[in-house]
Amino acid sequence: MSYDVDLFVIGGGSGGVRAARIAATHGAKVMLAEEYRMGGTCVIRGCVPKKLMVYASQFHEHFEDAAGFGWTVGPATFDWPTFIAAKDKEIGRLEGIYASNLAKAGVEIASQRATITGANSVRLADGRTVTAKFILVATGAAPSTDGTLPGGDLTISSNEVFHLTEQPKRIVIAGGGYIAVEFAGVFAGLGSEVTLVYRGAKILRGFDEDLRDHLMAEYARKGIRLVMNETFSAIEKTADGLAVRFRNGHETVVADQVLMAIGRRPNTKGLGLEAVGVTLGRNGEIAVDGNSRTSVPSIYAVGDATDRVNLTPVAIREGHAFADSLFGGRPWAADHATIPTAVFSEPEIGTVGLTEEQALLTGRAVDIYKATFRPMKNTISGRESRMLMKLLVDGETDRVLGVHICGPEAGEMIQLVGIAVKMGATKAQFDATMAVHPTAAEELVTMRTPSARFARSAAN
Ligand code: FAD
Ligand code: NDP
Repeated sequence: MSYDVDLFVIGGGSGGVRAARIAATHGAKVMLAEEYRMGGTCVIRGCVPKKLMVYASQFHEHFEDAAGFGWTVGPATFDWPTFIAAKDKEIGRLEGIYASNLAKAGVEIASQRATITGANSVRLADGRTVTAKFILVATGAAPSTDGTLPGGDLTISSNEVFHLTEQPKRIVIAGGGYIAVEFAGVFAGLGSEVTLVYRGAKILRGFDEDLRDHLMAEYARKGIRLVMNETFSAIEKTADGLAVRFRNGHETVVADQVLMAIGRRPNTKGLGLEAVGVTLGRNGEIAVDGNSRTSVPSIYAVGDATDRVNLTPVAIREGHAFADSLFGGRPWAADHATIPTAVFSEPEIGTVGLTEEQALLTGRAVDIYKATFRPMKNTISGRESRMLMKLLVDGETDRVLGVHICGPEAGEMIQLVGIAVKMGATKAQFDATMAVHPTAAEELVTMRTPSARFARSAAN
């Protein structure tokens, strides 16, 4: 049977673009549909604009710190519209690069929505039907909403936060995950009054407990109001702004914007997946095997739509593995173990491998090495912020099981130390590596005495 194309990709984000480009360079005839903007969440309303906002928000501390080093800096002001315009220009530039790279590779782009009509057919919004030997679903995810919250329509999500015409002077953020924590840091840095509301006792569930405690202390020091064990009961518009009311007794807070960052759900609704027999999970995530294949053999899925590990480099690698395997004669699978990750909070978090709690649950003997200190720059500047570094080591094999860092450039550090952890390096090999002095990272190779040792437990 002959098809219009070898591969039809739905979604021009991190995973879809990589898969389409690689498949095309392997000689496949590829078509890709994108209904919004090329580049997807990461480029248009995720990692990239977020990181630019993080940079924007860090300048005021740089100006403050400069004084300790002898600089006199005049009154500094921040102009939101100027920044937003510069950011939008850069995002537009990147979007263009994504589209032109696809075109250069020979991928045909359909700038419209696509839905699945059969195991080998797709319908475009303009009514065209395209047949394909393989279909790749890379439709990503969208912000979750709380449909039961009175006044929920007055709130914004991460989609809108990048396009506000004015900087909110007061912002309430719901959630304790990556997005809530990152935007709390951003807005605090820009001078907004920030209230972070989380339903549990500690932000960043799933991260190492010491990291969670450390960042909460840092945020409190910055003046971010942390309201824990709380959820919204209603949002109401008042003359003074949006009144946020709580369920568990905290007093009403009035703000200019309320940002809901309560997770994301896979973008799989109305795609026609169920009708063709693709199995979905409880939250609409597409069930796939280790090679990203769905329950329908001609349909594959990568990235956030599968809700495995929702990070850009993971979506890219899954897309790349898919394309090499099907069209390049080189089958391989993305490895989801020991993925380094950063939270671009302020200070940043970088983490790889097991948390202390996970390490202890395995029942093995675990040595903990921990250091907190004031980074050198903070001595003269007088900034109180401290850095945390933590290594978890297998007490018997000496293998480094996890590294957790909170402090300046933690994201950069974890990318590099992640290589060693992924390779299975031992603490002795860390220690045999000469320190780079004076740096903060040298602490990773100079921690000599465990702060705690746990013996192998009966569970193992
Ligand atoms: P996406 O990039 O979401 O792309 C999916 C695309 O499909 C979208 O462009 C969408 O318009 C399109 N689409 C959907 N349905 C259809 C349809 N039916 N027809 C045509 N097109 C369709 N990850 C990191 O690693 N580091 C970070 O710092 C980071 N920061 C983030 C910050 C924010 C605010 C958010 C929201 C996410 C962040 N992420 C970060 C996560 C990262 O953006 C995602 O994991 C990544 O974009 C997933 O890629 P994807 O290809 O699966 O989907
Ligand atoms: P997360 O899953 O990280 O966090 C969601 C937060 O919302 C959790 O604290 C969760 O609480 C809370 N929550 C969930 N449901 C409700 C509810 N009904 N009411 C109140 N609170 C609720 O999602 P994000 O939206 O922050 O980010 C989505 C994903 O995008 C991340 O998980 C990550 O994979 C990716 N991302 C990565 C970034 C990076 O790499 N730096 C940056 C931004 C996003 P609880 O913990 O109790 O379940």
